[in-house]
Amino acid sequence: MDTLDKLKILSGSARYDASCASSGSSRSGGAGTLGNASTGGICHSWSDDGRCISLLKVLLSNDCRYDCAYCVNRSSNPVERATFTVEELVNLTVRFYRRNYIEGLFLSSAVVQSPDCTMERMVAVVRRLREEEKFFGYIHMKVIPGSSRELVRQAGFYADRLSVNIELPSRDSLNRLAPQKQKESILKPMAFLGETISANRLERKKSRKVPRFSPAGQSTQMIVGASPESDHRILLLSQGLYKKMNLKRVYYSAYVPVNRDSRLPVLAKPPLNREHRLYQADWLLRNYGFSADEILSEEHPYLDEHLDPKASWALRHPEFFPVDVNRADYAALLRVPGIGVTSAKRIVAARRYAVLTPDGLKKIGVVMKRARYFITCSGRPVERLFDKPALIRQKLLTAETLPAPQSLKQRQMSFFK
Ligand code: SF4
Repeated sequence: MDTLDKLKILSGSARYDASCASSGSSRSGGAGTLGNASTGGICHSWSDDGRCISLLKVLLSNDCRYDCAYCVNRSSNPVERATFTVEELVNLTVRFYRRNYIEGLFLSSAVVQSPDCTMERMVAVVRRLREEEKFFGYIHMKVIPGSSRELVRQAGFYADRLSVNIELPSRDSLNRLAPQKQKESILKPMAFLGETISANRLERKKSRKVPRFSPAGQSTQMIVGASPESDHRILLLSQGLYKKMNLKRVYYSAYVPVNRDSRLPVLAKPPLNREHRLYQADWLLRNYGFSADEILSEEHPYLDEHLDPKASWALRHPEFFPVDVNRADYAALLRVPGIGVTSAKRIVAARRYAVLTPDGLKKIGVVMKRARYFITCSGRPVERLFDKPALIRQKLLTAETLPAPQSLKQRQMSFFK
């Protein structure tokens, strides 16, 4: 099998991994080096469905010794197997980069022989790219759960971003669907990365000579819909990961059935809308000061299928509204549907000089078709519907247009490390 045959097999599974964003890095090359992750445009190429397409996304190997129920590469599946040598993968990356096909590398792998054996080869690839080929393009590398701390540490000095996939939202589900993986083997490297990334940032504040460690942070990916956990449970987990593990992003991946397995649910189609709502809720956790218990609860464990989580929260909390745009603080403004981070900042800045009116709000970017039901301007309501949440819901539903679901082919296949 030649390199291109292997590439066909090993990029096939990797193409649609959700956690491929290449933003957040500032690695820059210089004379005699190749690539640059910091120059605008080079590492930020997105397909029309919002996914990064400029990385070479590939597995080192799909020859897995594990047998995770949801994965196309599991050992019991009769799929064609291939494994790159270190040299093949390094040459391929450099050749593709020189031809302007790619701007970086997204490297993962199935578990070949053992986690350490796999991770050793992956580290060898990124080491050679950085040290011998002087490759300064973006590298996102997956950490193989169960691999040694020393290998994870080495990877952090070569990759821009590392990620250990949490895979499933609970220990029970992991035991049931991926019995060869242990929760600890996922959480330990994650915790190590979180601590080391923070420590490295502090050290670099004292001296810029300290080498950077995973400068674009760490992320993880979770499969949604293959196991029975509620959205509330998923958001609580994400919240914990952001707080305790210093994660940059949690990626949610709607479960795509690729195997027949009695442990898996039978779904008519992948839960793409659920994935979309989880991303919206995650955004509220990271940027809007919401907690998981505010967005959902034991009584309301699932996100509203038809309304975005912020509007849904607003309708359940009429006591919080109306918010007066000329008086409310920044945190309260952020809770108004139709007011985002940018427009909240603009409101706070603009009202120093003028009293804001509905027309003024529109000009500074507030989405009035949503915000109008929740605000007043110096005591004057835009709509007098505060006490009619059912009617507001109806109006918001009419205003909300869901993004067109992506086809199955556009989705990430099993590629969970
Ligand atoms: S998810 Fe990873 S470890 Fe599990 S079978 Fe697939 S490639 Fe192997």
